[in-house]
Amino acid sequence: LTSRLRPFTSTIFAEITELARRHDAVNLGQGFPDTDGPSGMLRRAERAIADGTNQYPPGPGEPELRAAVAAQRAADYGLDHDPETEVLVTVGATEAISAALLGLVEPGDEVVLLEPYYDSYPVAVSLAGGTRRTVPLRVTGGRFGLDTTALRAAVGPSTRAIVLNSPHNPTGTVFGEAELAEIAEVCRENDLLAITDEVYEHLVFDGRKHTPLAAFPGMAERTLSVSSAGKSFNVTGWKIGWVCGPPELVAAVRAAKQFLTFVGGAPFQPAVAHALREERDWLPELRSGLQYKRDRLAAGLRGTGFEVLACEGTYFLCADIRPLGYTDGAEFCRALPERAGVAAIPLQVLCDDPEPVRHLVRFACCKRDEVIDEAVRRLRKLG
Ligand code: PMP
Ligand code: GLN
Repeated sequence: LTSRLRPFTSTIFAEITELARRHDAVNLGQGFPDTDGPSGMLRRAERAIADGTNQYPPGPGEPELRAAVAAQRAADYGLDHDPETEVLVTVGATEAISAALLGLVEPGDEVVLLEPYYDSYPVAVSLAGGTRRTVPLRVTGGRFGLDTTALRAAVGPSTRAIVLNSPHNPTGTVFGEAELAEIAEVCRENDLLAITDEVYEHLVFDGRKHTPLAAFPGMAERTLSVSSAGKSFNVTGWKIGWVCGPPELVAAVRAAKQFLTFVGGAPFQPAVAHALREERDWLPELRSGLQYKRDRLAAGLRGTGFEVLACEGTYFLCADIRPLGYTDGAEFCRALPERAGVAAIPLQVLCDDPEPVRHLVRFACCKRDEVIDEAVRRLRKLG
């Protein structure tokens, strides 16, 4: 194994999901919903297969999907993207982020990550030959927020890019206007690229709105905005993602993407286009359903003795294990499937500096009510 990959031998999601399987645990570790997306979308995919949409789609993605993505971003955010040159369909958001880094980061360039980070980011930076600089998010008043001083301190002459994830996995933070404006200012002042992972763009609670970083002044020309159908339409296994940005940046992502996977998921692309265009009731219902699940799981966890942090969006709730007498999240999560029959993810494995989050673990709330209730019932054994 190369030195680029050696530090990253297994993903925490695979490890915990395997433990969950072995102990027949309720899997609140890996974030995936346990109900299907809109039936019209599923039927559209079936029809695409029956109609013979089964060969390589065009390199940049089905034109119908690129047009639907551009229309959604124009309607939701007032951002204009030419579907021909400024939208690229990828194999999930994961490929979009990796291909962006491979296409735009030179060996030796630094890339800023906020931590805890999504597990693929440090690996993608390493594969691209870059060096990561991590900036810890700070908990104040029970919410993870941006530490602007730490962000500014992490940026230097070798910094090429920042990867920003909002709504943020694993913390559940939705960065506010002031935080995003600070990040935009740092990008402009230091001539940085921004790669924004917006896979939870529609999963924001309590009346919040998602604002893409690309919508801030001077940012459209330096931002690659990434999203995916997985989280928006309950199809994490379809792996249909996309990236939008200025033509020269999207061309660089495409240059890398064409030799990673070339194309992906032909029959799913018209189905996702259909969902973006036609399934107008789906997203508000998904959002309010998840908000309800967040509250149901949060109440259950609190009743079990955990302290629960703020969750403004995403699938995830972070909980403090110290009130239950535990101190190390990784030990806790590795033992939990056997001890209680539940799986969760420790935050410390998503950080270069584990200390600030050693006592925190992540539970996914994107499950059927009876699954959430069963997990809570099992967790009561811990108290
Ligand atoms: N980014 C974040 C923040 C995620 O949580 C996930 C996983 N759901 C992904 C990217 C991967 O998305 P995809 O499955 O579309 O590759
Ligand atoms: N994005 C999901 C999570 O954060 C699943 C990731 C994965 O399995 N690679 O749980």
